[in-house]
Amino acid sequence: MNNNALISVEDALQRIRASLTPIRGFERVSLRDGWGRTLAEAVTSPINVPGYVNSAMDGYAVAAQSLQADTPLTVIGQAMAGVPFEGRVAAGQAVRIMTGAMVPEGADTVIMQEMTQREGDTLTIQGSHAAGENVRQIGEDIMADAVVLQAGKVLQATELGLLASLGIPEVTVSRRVRVATFSTGDELCSIGQTLGPGQIYDSNRYALYGLLRALDVEHLDMGIIRDDRDAVREAFRSAAEVADVVITSGGVSVGDADYVKQTLEELGQVDFWKIRMKPGKPLAFGRLGDAIFFGLPGNPVSSMATFYQIVQPSLRHLQGQQGTTHWHLQARTTSKLKKSPGRADYQRGIMSITENGELQVASTGHQGSHILSSMSRANCFIVLPAEGGDVEAGEWVTIQPFGLL
Ligand code: AMP
Ligand code: MG
Repeated sequence: MNNNALISVEDALQRIRASLTPIRGFERVSLRDGWGRTLAEAVTSPINVPGYVNSAMDGYAVAAQSLQADTPLTVIGQAMAGVPFEGRVAAGQAVRIMTGAMVPEGADTVIMQEMTQREGDTLTIQGSHAAGENVRQIGEDIMADAVVLQAGKVLQATELGLLASLGIPEVTVSRRVRVATFSTGDELCSIGQTLGPGQIYDSNRYALYGLLRALDVEHLDMGIIRDDRDAVREAFRSAAEVADVVITSGGVSVGDADYVKQTLEELGQVDFWKIRMKPGKPLAFGRLGDAIFFGLPGNPVSSMATFYQIVQPSLRHLQGQQGTTHWHLQARTTSKLKKSPGRADYQRGIMSITENGELQVASTGHQGSHILSSMSRANCFIVLPAEGGDVEAGEWVTIQPFGLL
């Protein structure tokens, strides 16, 4: 394919996915250390959950046949959570039982406390009841040997709880993808230093840090590279030796000091470098030795937008995760959105919910790719398809909430 061709975000993602094999390494970690990590293999349950027949209510355990007779029952003991009743429940008898307690032998039904009346050891049941009600059966939640989590699942609070409920103390997770990042540009000054004339602070370094921190990757921050052919070459060589993925920002367009693409062509290979999206047209993807390379544009909004749309799903795929496509919702725009046809726009929007429960979205205003404050005011991208032009207020548009990215 011609390296200079413009390609769509969808095509870019498809090509990247097709060319990237999820990493193979894995490690065993304790359940707590598994938080945020990606399961490398499916987990099957070693036990039934529940492991024994137990009560879903505080009440009385009885045999279903006792419900037919209209006579009071005799309470013969109690079953507490963790302290079972040792005897057997015969017809005409009941055992006081608490939620989670083992249903005693002979009983198969629990009558909730609110439907009973008790005087001494005599119990009267009110209302009509079905056999088996308020009883949790063995394996009702999870059967022994059933697959409970698939490989590729990212372990969150629920999964830690679920694994703990099965008594599983350790998990096998995929090795973290090692990601090296650089900023490029002679104008860049590190925070903590004084800005010289024509200099700006290196903000991409920190935005990228945050973006990567939200993922299950190991981040190697390799600082700033000057706009110098040898410096770029040297930095690329050393990064490719230690990282699975190398990400740069800046220097990727066709300016006089843009050495990223040239160096990638010289040391590795460029698969494509122009994406039909705005912000962020120039984006390099390729190989640098064994490492995968992403060259993000320098403008702060462009580098964040291309990261979210292209790099983040790719890193997740590489990490072996399931479900790496972004959520798209529909919202009615309250602002007129200016757009020129040709590239897909990822405008910054502020979504909210109307009194009627409908999603609506407003533009953050000026959409310049250098205006990072627009990302901070926004809580979603407004995604406008490549072919379309201006969108009038009141029309429906597609949005991607940042919280779901
Ligand atoms: P470039 O892609 O190198 O031509 O950069 C495009 C614009 O992004 C220029 O205005 C750069 O000054 C700016 N830029 C590049 N890198 C960074 C960075 N790390 N932090 C903030 N702005 C940057
Ligand atoms: Mg530059």
